[in-house]
Amino acid sequence: MNIPQAQISRDKTGDGGVIIAKLDDLLNWARLSSLFPMGFGLACCAIEMMGAYGSGYDLDRFGIIPRASPRQSDVMIVAGTVTFKMADRVRRLYEQMPEPRYVISMGSCSNCGGPYWEQGYHVVKGVDRIIPVDVYVPGCPPRPEALIGGFLKLQELIRKESVLQPKAVMKLMQQEASETD
Ligand code: SF4
Repeated sequence: MNIPQAQISRDKTGDGGVIIAKLDDLLNWARLSSLFPMGFGLACCAIEMMGAYGSGYDLDRFGIIPRASPRQSDVMIVAGTVTFKMADRVRRLYEQMPEPRYVISMGSCSNCGGPYWEQGYHVVKGVDRIIPVDVYVPGCPPRPEALIGGFLKLQELIRKESVLQPKAVMKLMQQEASETD
């Protein structure tokens, strides 16, 4: 049976065309449906990240569109080996992103130093030593499907956020608590 479009919207919104929702739900829905990752990569994992941006995986369907500037991005994907030389730059790029901002650590190198864990004198043993990480994607390298899984996990986290407890404030409180311990 064909139902006219006008009938469908009347059924969903009532005669007044009004939808009532919690502000948290609306903000979270908008944020998780328009994640803008910053377009930068550090090593081999970045090739898989670029593969994920390709037409085969179609990240656009999740509203995930890479941006060329940290000021227009809300997700940093740390894809590759974080050397001590790059650590300052990674931190500076993170600080240039507006709140609310999120970090996905992609691959073993970024998670914990990867194959350089023991002998890599030049490698930071986990990017969470310099910036806070929201989602860890395991693998060496993780496939694009794993990165998409990381994005879905991040969307789940954003869905639970509240304007009454902004993420930036919560992070600061956690940081202060860990420093006083
Ligand atoms: S985790 Fe593996 S693939 Fe990724 S940057 Fe490190 S060595 Fe390369």
